[in-house]
This record gives sequence, C-alpha cells and structure tokens, in this order.
Amino acid sequence: MHVLILGGTTEARALAAALHPGVRVTSSLAGRVAEPRLPVGEVRIGGFGGVAGLAAWVREHHVDAVIDATHPFAETMSFNAARAAATAHVPLLALRRPGWVPEAGDQWRPVGSLDEAARALTGLGDRVFLTTGRMGLAAFADCPQWFLVRSVDAPDAPMPARTEVLLDRGPFTLDGERDLLRRHRIDVLVTKDSGGAATSPKLHAAREAGIPVVVVRRPPIPEGVRTAASPEAAAAWVRRGFVGS
Ligand code: NAP
Repeated sequence: MHVLILGGTTEARALAAALHPGVRVTSSLAGRVAEPRLPVGEVRIGGFGGVAGLAAWVREHHVDAVIDATHPFAETMSFNAARAAATAHVPLLALRRPGWVPEAGDQWRPVGSLDEAARALTGLGDRVFLTTGRMGLAAFADCPQWFLVRSVDAPDAPMPARTEVLLDRGPFTLDGERDLLRRHRIDVLVTKDSGGAATSPKLHAAREAGIPVVVVRRPPIPEGVRTAASPEAAAAWVRRGFVGS
C-alpha cells in the first residue's frame, strides 16, 4: 500500500510516523521553507504542476490514497488534491486540526482575508504583532503601523515600511509569548485560525494582556472531501482500508 501525504504541518509528520514503516508513505513538501523539518519515510519536495501534474504523479507512483495534511490555509493545494484524487480515482482524506475557539476574555476580531485583516487594524493601536507567515505580507504593505513580523524564513518585499522581522518557528511557550508582547509593547495581534497547540500560547498571552486579536477565518474544505481531525484518526482510516471518516 502506498499513501501520499501532502504535508508541511506538524500533523503531517505525526501521521507519517504513525504509518511508517508498516505502510509505504511518501510525504510531499512545497519547498517553501529553506530547512524543513522532515518526516520519516520517503519525501519529495516541490510543486506537482497543478491538478494534472498531481494526478499523473499519483498514477505513476501507484498511490492508493492521498491524505491532504497541508496547513488549513493552503487552499490551492487542497482544491488541487480534491480534483486530482477524483481524476486519478483514488480516495482522499483531509486531515484538519480543529480551529481555535474564543474563550472568556478574548477580544477577537474575525475577518475573512489578510486584506480585511489589514483594514481591521485601524484604531487598534500602532504596534502590531503579525504571525500570518511571510507569504501574505503584501496585504499589509501600505499599513502605517509598526509591525513585528514573526516567520520561519526571512520575508521578501513588499512589506510594511515600519517592520522588524523576528525569525523563529514554533512551538512557542506562554512565558515566551508574554515576554514578547511586553518587550515590544504590542497593541494588537494578527493571526490565521491555524489551530493546534504549537502556536496557541500567543492567544493566551493576548487574552491575559487584554490585547485584541485579528483572526483570519479558515477557507472552506473542498466540498465532498471527508475529513479527520487528528493524525490518529487519519491513520485509522488508512488501516480500515480507506473506509469511513
Ligand atoms: P497553496 O497556496 O495552497 O499552494 C500553492 C502551490 O504550492 C500548489 O498549487 C502546489 O503547486 C504547491 N504546494 C503546496 N503545498 C504543497 C505540498 N505539500 N507538496 C507539493 N506542492 C505543494 O500552499 P501554501 O499556502 O503556499 O502552503 C505551502 C506549504 O506550506 C504547504 O505544504 C502547507 O502545508 C505549508 N504551510 C502553509 C501555511 C499557510 O499559512 N498557508 C502555514 C504553514 C505551513 P503545484 O500546483 O505546482 O502542485
């Protein structure tokens, strides 16, 4: 049995570890991060060349099932996976960690996109902690506020004129996030609703400090695609012979 995992997440690595070596696993990474954390099993890096390229790869490598374990905001890849799996007639499962849920004391401002997040910053203060990743920085390029941008690799222009870059990758701790908000006198946090424990301490720290959080809502999962909420549930789907969800 050969399973293709579309990866780039903690959950994708955990799933590869849960299946390997009993099941042949190939994990696919986009190649965005210079030194990615690699999963166990086989790994391929780089785009497939759209839906047709992915469908061809699946056929050529005798893939029996595809698990889309990409980040909840990797919308293009998820839609490509849905169409390619249908084209190649292989089962597809989307592994999606649950989104974050606001708690008492949270001051969330939900928005539908990064552009909307940039507009929502008006009136929320001058010092912004931006944790939406380096790829979408252009949406904030015309913002007058000062930005602390945290990303794994250095971002490229365009970016806001007043930007300090902090190169770091999770998991992050509550103490570390508290300290960072204090040290940089942060007025507002911007995040995607990525979900998961690795990056959630910033939400806790913002709640404690009474800092508003602009939260970008998730894009939808392609229609008709079955989902699993954890690597364990996805591994169970494989062991059941790709049945149920
Ligand atoms: P995206 O916009 O949905 O995808 C753009 C293109 O990148 C796809 O059409 C595909 O190229 C290629 N691609 C994406 N994921 C791939 C994968 N796992 N393996 C091979 N090719 C892939 O993707 P994105 O949002 O830039 O995310 C890229 C990667 O970073 C994903 O693996 C994702 O899990 C990870 N990531 C994303 C975020 C985020 O906020 N978006 C955060 C953390 C990690 P072709 O059409 O040529 O196949």
